[in-house]
Amino acid sequence: MIKGISAGVLLAALAPFHAMAQLPDGFFDVELRTVPVAGNVYMIQRPDGFANVGAFVGEEGVLLVDSQFEPHAKDLVAAVRKITDGEIRFLVNTHVHPDHIGGNAPLAAEDVLIFAHDNMRVRMLERRSRFPRGNGGFFPQAPAAARPFVTYKDQITFHFNSEVVRVFLAPAAHTDGDTFVHFPESDVLHLGDVFRTTSYPIIDVYNGGTLAGTIEALDLAIGLAGPDTKVIPGHGVNVVGRRELIEFRDMTVAVSQRVRALIAEGKTLDEVMQARPTAAYDKKWGTVPSWTANDFVPIVYHQLGGGSLYEQ
Ligand SMILES: [Zn+2]
Repeated sequence: MIKGISAGVLLAALAPFHAMAQLPDGFFDVELRTVPVAGNVYMIQRPDGFANVGAFVGEEGVLLVDSQFEPHAKDLVAAVRKITDGEIRFLVNTHVHPDHIGGNAPLAAEDVLIFAHDNMRVRMLERRSRFPRGNGGFFPQAPAAARPFVTYKDQITFHFNSEVVRVFLAPAAHTDGDTFVHFPESDVLHLGDVFRTTSYPIIDVYNGGTLAGTIEALDLAIGLAGPDTKVIPGHGVNVVGRRELIEFRDMTVAVSQRVRALIAEGKTLDEVMQARPTAAYDKKWGTVPSWTANDFVPIVYHQLGGGSLYEQ
């Protein structure tokens, strides 16, 4: 069982991020549900699909992919307990954001061994962390106990529960420490926040994310996915497949091409925004208020050399 965390400590740690991220009251008053994905992999998720966790389960124990917000740490363990009594042994973090590493410290206190890419650990050491929403707000550094014990430069392979689990650095997309987790035998991919079904790509330039890397990383994922591969999105209610990956990549490429053409015509960011380069896609990917075309397009403009994010 997870040891208790004092409510005072929790609130003190959480308040700035909670306020900055504008999470609504009662955000954490939800149950996590456990969804079978394929083979020995499950998705543990909030009802809104915010920061989906992967759980790989077998006779040797459990490997988790990401750890949700800290207030959900107990709920996460309870959700695992619905499918297995096995020990939670390993945790892989896909990237540094607090909705994916919040449960690290409480899980580490239960001897769960945490793995992440070198770059993610370096980001965790920054005195104040940045979050891409709200034009890069700050939030406090995660506690030392949340840091990974094991980091890797390129990749690491688990031989666990009679399967191979491939864990590797993706091109700098959402951040510069994005890890993809591939379960070839269960035929599942967890792509962290490089892939989401709820909004336009979030390219966190404050943590090293890039537009070119986002397209490269999606190409890589599409190459790994077979016709039956199940894909757990970092954010999104439903498990999807290769077709949805292609659709998301194609949208990202199309918007980029449109913005590039407008930059070539000498358009300012204001003019690019007025031209609505995402118009064909806003209904599908532009409806989440915290990350719309108004957040995505300026980053695309900046990434394609159209000018500083800060001058406009
Ligand atoms: Zn993220």
